[in-house]
Amino acid sequence: MKFCLRTYGCQMNVRDSEAVEALMIAAGHEKVASEDEAELVIVNSCTVRQKAEDKAVGKMGYLCSTGKMTGLMGCAVKRLGRDVFKVLPKLDFAVGPRAFGLIPKIVASNPHGVLELGDDLIPEGMGAHEVKGFQTFVTVLIGCDNRCSYCIVPDVRGHEYSRPEVEIEAEVRSLVDHGVKEVCLLGQSVLRYGAREGKADAFPHLLERLCAIEGLERIRFTSAHPKGCTDELIRVYRTYPQICRHLHLPVQSGSDRILKEMGRRYTRAEYLAAVAKLREFDPEFAITTDIIVGYPGETEADFELTRSLMEEAGFDNSFVFKYSPRPGTRSAMLPDDVAKEEKERRDQVLLADQEARGLRRNQALVGTVREVLAEGPSKRNPARYAGRDSGNRIVVWEGARPVGSKVQVRITEAHAQILIGEAI
Ligand code: SAH
Ligand code: SF4
Repeated sequence: MKFCLRTYGCQMNVRDSEAVEALMIAAGHEKVASEDEAELVIVNSCTVRQKAEDKAVGKMGYLCSTGKMTGLMGCAVKRLGRDVFKVLPKLDFAVGPRAFGLIPKIVASNPHGVLELGDDLIPEGMGAHEVKGFQTFVTVLIGCDNRCSYCIVPDVRGHEYSRPEVEIEAEVRSLVDHGVKEVCLLGQSVLRYGAREGKADAFPHLLERLCAIEGLERIRFTSAHPKGCTDELIRVYRTYPQICRHLHLPVQSGSDRILKEMGRRYTRAEYLAAVAKLREFDPEFAITTDIIVGYPGETEADFELTRSLMEEAGFDNSFVFKYSPRPGTRSAMLPDDVAKEEKERRDQVLLADQEARGLRRNQALVGTVREVLAEGPSKRNPARYAGRDSGNRIVVWEGARPVGSKVQVRITEAHAQILIGEAI
């Protein structure tokens, strides 16, 4: 069949979609770019906030009216269960986030109303890839055993499962043989790799093992937690320059009271100590974060603590989310008492702060030379080329370079989200 896939949500979903594409191609189906041309359309859904779910389910609703075979995968399926067919009566099949490996088999059965939730299944085909460029995601840890009060992820993605090191290593070696130079290792709380099995510092040791692979130029990973920023992690950073100097370290709030209610398992001071440790090791170390504004009971004073924490941490970038109650989570029992307009205002204040901070941080890099891997023409100005430095900062310069090649760029101009320079 001619099929296409549409993806909503986080990098984990992007990776799962890639695996499904590779599995479908291996089963003899043909991937097409346009929905019009496709005989089968699959939507990979998110449910982390209600808006995200509505977008994916809305898209699927439209596609169900076109008469094509349709399938919904991902987190919204697990949340909705059987009700998915009440919302989408014409949907042919639905699979939860751990059941995507079953899709080729389901498609072959000419499905109607098929539901596979997957629960705590270890997904088949997690390592399937259709290598497209020099960068790719690799799943190392699925599920989440943390129980942050606001978060639906553990309910929909199930318990943690760390893939065996040998399996990950073999996958990365094969990717490198197919031209991959940069991998991004994925897990909800990726530094907990091996924690369920009681192994200490299993993640730094996995990094060390992957650093031995010849031809692998860069390793990234996401998302991190301050508890995982151990001395052993810093030692591994120090030893291997190919591990990128960037961490996405979601903080969520700067107020100890809110952090406690959220069940984040760190205080403001502990979080800032982790930031200081990373920046002590490398002052240019890039740190990005996620923030939730308008958590139940968040006062103006709590919000101001978030503002001051963001300034103290000197975040290079941040993603701000307006609190959305998710059914079944602990915080959904609390009144969602911060008004919509107030959430919006707090969001805008943090965005403006970040814009100014991002600009200031980037201005400090003017005159430095960034090592970049060329990704292709810049989206905004195709006459320019773009790539990323080790800190995941977007760098653009004049003049084409082969995609995937290393370029040294001297920075001449800084913006909040982008650095401009000359290739040398
Ligand atoms: N596993 C990652 C986060 C996954 S969800 C981690 O813990 O680091 C991505 C982001 O969505 C979270 O960091 C949080 O900021 C936001 N988020 C999660 N649940 C939310 C909710 N109910 N309302 C608003 N934002 C939420
Ligand atoms: Fe959600 Fe917390 Fe797990 Fe992240 S660590 S996925 S925020 S429960």
